[in-house]
Amino acid sequence: MTAPDSVLTPVLGSLYALQVPIPYPMKTVTVMIDAPAGGPVTMIDCALDTPEAQASIEAGLAELGLHWPDIDRLVITHHHPDHYGLAGIVEERSGAQVQMLDVEIGRGERYWHMLREWFPGHVKHMRDHGMPPQILEGMRVENPHVHPASRVTPLREGELVRLSGQDWEVLWLPGHADGHLGLWNASDSVLIAGDAILPRISPNIGLYAYTRPDPLGDYLQTLGKLEALNPARAVVGHHGPVMQGVQARARELRAHHHERLDFIKAEAAKAPRDAYALSLAMFSRELDVSGRRFALAETLAHLEHLRLLGQLYRTWNEERGAWTYHA
Ligand SMILES: [Zn+2]
Ligand SMILES: [Zn+2]
Repeated sequence: MTAPDSVLTPVLGSLYALQVPIPYPMKTVTVMIDAPAGGPVTMIDCALDTPEAQASIEAGLAELGLHWPDIDRLVITHHHPDHYGLAGIVEERSGAQVQMLDVEIGRGERYWHMLREWFPGHVKHMRDHGMPPQILEGMRVENPHVHPASRVTPLREGELVRLSGQDWEVLWLPGHADGHLGLWNASDSVLIAGDAILPRISPNIGLYAYTRPDPLGDYLQTLGKLEALNPARAVVGHHGPVMQGVQARARELRAHHHERLDFIKAEAAKAPRDAYALSLAMFSRELDVSGRRFALAETLAHLEHLRLLGQLYRTWNEERGAWTYHA
C-alpha cells in the first residue's frame, strides 16, 4: 500500500502510474514507472518538458527511491508532445534505451527530426483543404517543450515486454497516431492504452500530411480490437490514470464516429465545400486557432474515410486552390 499523500497510483505489482501536469486542456498526462526488485527500471511515456513536469516525475521517482540515472528503458506509446517531450532529456540523464513501435518511428517520431523539411508540406496540406491564412499563420515549426531522442529502438507488434515480472504483449493501436503502441497483460487483463481510448474525451483522429491515408478507418479497427480484448482495466493517457468499462467506451466511440460520418456526408451532399468549411459545420462551437487546426484534421479524417469507401468524391477547385468534397 502507498501512503495517502503518495503521488503514485499502484497499477500492478511494481508498476505505478503518475499524473504529470501539462499546459494543455487535459491538464495531466500519465507517466508510468516500473521498478521491480533487481531491475530493470522502465518508464512509460515522459510528458512535455516543463519545470512542473520534471518536478512531478522526480517526486514519483523519489517515492520509489529512484533518480533519473536509474531509468534503464523508456517506452513511449506515441509521438505526441505530451507523451514524448522529455525523451531526449531522459535519454541524456540516464542513458536509457528509448523504445517505440516500429511504425511510429518511421512517421510520428521522425516528424520531430524532420520538422524543417516536413513543415512546408504540412502547411500546404492544410491550405489545400481550405484553411484560411489567418489560421495558418503562427503555426510553429518547433515545440520548445519537445526534445527528440537521439536513438529510438523499435518494438514490433506481438513482441513481449517485461514489466512487473510479467510478459506484456506489444499491440498496434493505430488511429490517434499511426504507430500508437499498447501493452497488454492477458493474465491480469490490464491494458496500457495511452491515448488509444480515453474516458471523457474522444481521442483526436486527425489526417495530416505525414499520416497514413485513413486514420479513421485504422481507429475503427482499433476500437474493434479493444472491444474484443475487453480489458478489466486500462491505464490511459489522460483523465485516468486507470479506467474501467473499455468495451462499452469503445462501442460509444464507434457510435460517435458513425454519427459524425453520417453528418458530414449529408453536409457535403447538401452543399459541396472544402474540408475547412465542412469543419466549421462539424465543429460549430468557437475554437481558438489551434482548436480549428485539430478540427480540420479530424474533419478530413472523416471525409477521406468516406472518399476511400467511395461514398464521397473530391475535385480540385482551381479558383479557390482547394479540394471540394461532394456526394
Ligand atoms: Zn496523443
Ligand atoms: Zn495525449
